[in-house]
Amino acid sequence: MPAKSIAISFLLVLLISILNPVNADEIEDLETDILNCEGIESLEFDGLAANQSVSFQVGLGPRLPGSNASSALLDSFIENNTAWNWTLDIHPYLDTNLTNLHGIYTPESNETDLPVVILAAHYDSRDRAERDDDENRTDEPIPGANDGASGVAVLSELARIVPMLGLEHEVWILLTDAEDQGVVPEMLGAKAWAQDRTQEEIDSIHAFLLVDMIGDADLQINRVYPPKVGLSETDRLWDAVDGLASSLGLVKDVTACDGSLGIDIVNVNELDGVIDDHVPMLEVGIPAIDLIDIRFGPNATKWGGYWHTHEDTPDKVSAESLTHVGHILELGLRQGSWLKDENETLDEETDNKTKETTELSIIYPILAFTFIGASLITFGILHGSVRFKR
Ligand SMILES: [Zn+2]
Repeated sequence: MPAKSIAISFLLVLLISILNPVNADEIEDLETDILNCEGIESLEFDGLAANQSVSFQVGLGPRLPGSNASSALLDSFIENNTAWNWTLDIHPYLDTNLTNLHGIYTPESNETDLPVVILAAHYDSRDRAERDDDENRTDEPIPGANDGASGVAVLSELARIVPMLGLEHEVWILLTDAEDQGVVPEMLGAKAWAQDRTQEEIDSIHAFLLVDMIGDADLQINRVYPPKVGLSETDRLWDAVDGLASSLGLVKDVTACDGSLGIDIVNVNELDGVIDDHVPMLEVGIPAIDLIDIRFGPNATKWGGYWHTHEDTPDKVSAESLTHVGHILELGLRQGSWLKDENETLDEETDNKTKETTELSIIYPILAFTFIGASLITFGILHGSVRFKR
């Protein structure tokens, strides 16, 4: 082999060994794209039943704190779900009370110190319609079909389904009151509930999953901030949403478990700023996210369309959209997606080892080929076939 060829081969081999780790990274990316389809055939969520709940709730009249409509709603929620342990969480509000409904589902094993996943929605409807075109009616309460009833509707279906799932952790349902009252909605029910939690309870909560305004036929759910991106505990939950939505065909151009090409419903790469009932949870250290569509109605802009108007009626709420959100939450429960990975620290260690191995796999070939190359060059110089330029 002539010296020139030796030098070129040496350079080529060096180049290949340097390029190789890039390919390894690509493979790793492909692996994370593999869908989890477990349990997808067993999904129980019934969007039509959820949609009937929306009509039922709106039919009760405005669900203002302390109203008969509010207590009728809570009564029916409790009566329909006897496998749950329900508590009314009552706090003073203006000249009446606000009432959160807190339900606990405990698996039959009856073990203590189980992880907790919380499903939450506000059940009050707004006391005013400040965005309505009719100026004479801006101080009247809105129907709240999407803003209020849609979230409760999704939770009423999940309350029926959870006891059938054979879960090994607790599920809590929280229906908050007084989220949407007054000039600026103040999330008073959620704040009061969050502030009453003990540190032990907070530590046991793996996920607080809020649903609000998720009935729009033109459903678009983006990642919500706060929480800020990079907060590992909430990024974990958004990653889970992304994975589940991908499996269900709700992420644009991603092939779903059924082989169909995904549609653009969930996009965790888009950000919407939203202050909602999840914020008081974040403030006490509970990992919390909000599934919400802040563009209510066809071609609506952010916080536009039918939002906070008298047009927020049951005919604007779609059973299909309720199903999409219901499926994300139900599949997440079935797959254990909302739980912290107890082996996380172990995984991190394995990750670090893999990284070290990858680094070594780059260094060894370089060292080997440098050695071989250097030997060949030395050999060449000794034989007078290689000259360095001066
Ligand atoms: Zn609202």
